Amino acid sequence: MSNKLKIDLHVHTNFSKDGFSSINEIIKYAKNRGIDGIAITDHDVLINEKIIEKISNENNIIIIPGIEITTKYGHLILLKPNNLKNDFEELLKNEIIIIPHPLDPFSHGIGKKIIKKILYKKPLLEIRNSSTLPIYNKLAERLANKYELGVVGGSDAHIAYMVGTSYTIVEVEDKNINEILDAIKNGKTMAYGGFSLLNIKFFIEKYFKNRNLFYF
Ligand SMILES: [Zn+2]
Ligand SMILES: [Zn+2]
Repeated sequence: MSNKLKIDLHVHTNFSKDGFSSINEIIKYAKNRGIDGIAITDHDVLINEKIIEKISNENNIIIIPGIEITTKYGHLILLKPNNLKNDFEELLKNEIIIIPHPLDPFSHGIGKKIIKKILYKKPLLEIRNSSTLPIYNKLAERLANKYELGVVGGSDAHIAYMVGTSYTIVEVEDKNINEILDAIKNGKTMAYGGFSLLNIKFFIEKYFKNRNLFYF
C-alpha cells in the first residue's frame, strides 16, 4: 500500500542569516500541522547529513538535508547534494534540482529564460511557496504545465509558525528517504498551499525586532 506523505520542501532554520527558529521549534510546528517531513534548505549552508539523520530519528520525522544556493542567476534548491562547487553548471550535476519561487523577481527567482535553458536537466518547479505572491505561484504553475516539469510546494518558512503552510505530497511505498528522493526526482509529486497571511505577522514581528535592535 502506498503512503502519501506531506513534506514541506523549503524550510529555513536559524542557520540561515535571516532565519529565526531552531530545528526543534520547527519540528514542533511541523508535527502540530500534521506534516510528515521537511527539507532543511538554509541559504548557502548545508547542515551535516549525520546530524540531520540523528535529529530525524530522535523526533520520528522525515528530514531531508538540502540547501538553497544563491547563484548568479538566482536561487536554486538542491536536495541531498553531493556537488557544491561554486559554479552554476556544476550545481546542475546534482540529482534533485528545485527552482524555488521561479518567477518572483523580488525573491531572486531564476526566471523563464534560464529555466528554458536548463529544461534538459528536468528541474522541478516550486509552484506553491507561502512567501511569494499568488500571481507568481500561478505563473510558475503555468510554466510547469507548459514544459511538463515536476512540481513541489514549500513554505519558505523563516520562522517556525510558517512551516507546513505549503507542502508537497510525495507518494511512496516505503517511508525510506531514498525512495522519497526518487519519487521527487521523478516528479511523483503534487503541490499544495500558497501565499500565507502569516507572512504579515512575520513581517510585523521582524520590523519590531529590528527596531528594538536599532534603539538599544
Ligand atoms: Zn529563495
Ligand atoms: Zn528560501
